[in-house]
Amino acid sequence: MANEKSNVIIRRRAFPRKKVCKFCADPSLKIDYKNPEVLKPFLNEKGMILHRRQTGTCAYHQRRLTTAIKRARIMALLPFVADIEVE
Ligand SMILES: [Zn+2]
Repeated sequence: MANEKSNVIIRRRAFPRKKVCKFCADPSLKIDYKNPEVLKPFLNEKGMILHRRQTGTCAYHQRRLTTAIKRARIMALLPFVADIEVE
């Protein structure tokens, strides 16, 4: 277990893009549960909230984002679960 890591070849990513928090980059963009269009890019196709590492959102904005998404779900502006095939 302990020696496993030394055997792994560290591969560099082709283009390691630096992710910038969307809300820090654009101060005019406000996190609001009444505006689901802002929140939608942070959900995957199943309606789950994307991880901070996937989106690059900072801790402060991720915290506000999750509460906004949860509020929007209660207001039925965003789905709790999406894209389930019903036959
Ligand atoms: Zn931020």
